[in-house]
Amino acid sequence: MSISAIPANSILHGAVAMQSRILINDLLDFFFYPECICCGQRLKRGYDYYCENCLDLASQVEEVLCPECRLEIVSLRTGCKSCEKKSPISALFACGTFDDFFRSVVHGLKYDSLLPLANKLSCMLASRLMNADAVRLIDLIIPIPLHWTRQRQRGFNQSFVFAQSLSDKTSLPVTDDLLKRVKRTKDQTGLNASQRVNNMKGAFSVTKHDAVAGKRILLIDDVTTTGATLNEAALELRKSGCRNVFAAVIAVAATSIE
Ligand SMILES: [Zn+2]
Ligand SMILES: [Zn+2]
Repeated sequence: MSISAIPANSILHGAVAMQSRILINDLLDFFFYPECICCGQRLKRGYDYYCENCLDLASQVEEVLCPECRLEIVSLRTGCKSCEKKSPISALFACGTFDDFFRSVVHGLKYDSLLPLANKLSCMLASRLMNADAVRLIDLIIPIPLHWTRQRQRGFNQSFVFAQSLSDKTSLPVTDDLLKRVKRTKDQTGLNASQRVNNMKGAFSVTKHDAVAGKRILLIDDVTTTGATLNEAALELRKSGCRNVFAAVIAVAATSIE
């Protein structure tokens, strides 16, 4: 049928229907598609939590890092040549460094309880592990535990949520009952590197030594700056005879002296 054969009133109805659809979609976007947690721009349909632009600008860390000098480790087998034996952790994986983007996503996960964010971030981390062919070198995922008083206050342990999500992506088992936080440590903010090490001393305890002995463990924390928390947990696991410890975080400081 040619356009001239379509009655004028049906063209008019079609245009009104289209305008209404656009208006309804705009309203849906306004009410159901929130702002990017990083830049505050309203998100396009199909995007959750952060926008494409902020993700593009984020300083993602594709490389496997040395937990001490934070330089790239070329081979997981040989580790960092210059820092060998200094760290109880063989290698560190991270989604990215502390920039606006990763600061915002960690804050969202930790304080705004945006738990589905863990799913997106664990996809990022799972690809790091797979690219480095590291999944086959790990037996067990253990999240850094919170002290029970802190956990009760927050309602959940963000590192456990993240670890569970990573477990779903990698099929590696996760457990939060082998490592306990037995000391209520001070907030690390404002402490220098050696104060942080002292603050974390004796913070963790392994509950079942047999379950840890001989295992290759991936420790999970949301962030790491000096590495004091991860190191203390790794030392405790190593005392129980675990075979190897790797660590993975959402955000890492570019140097361990920050
Ligand atoms: Zn954005
Ligand atoms: Zn190093």
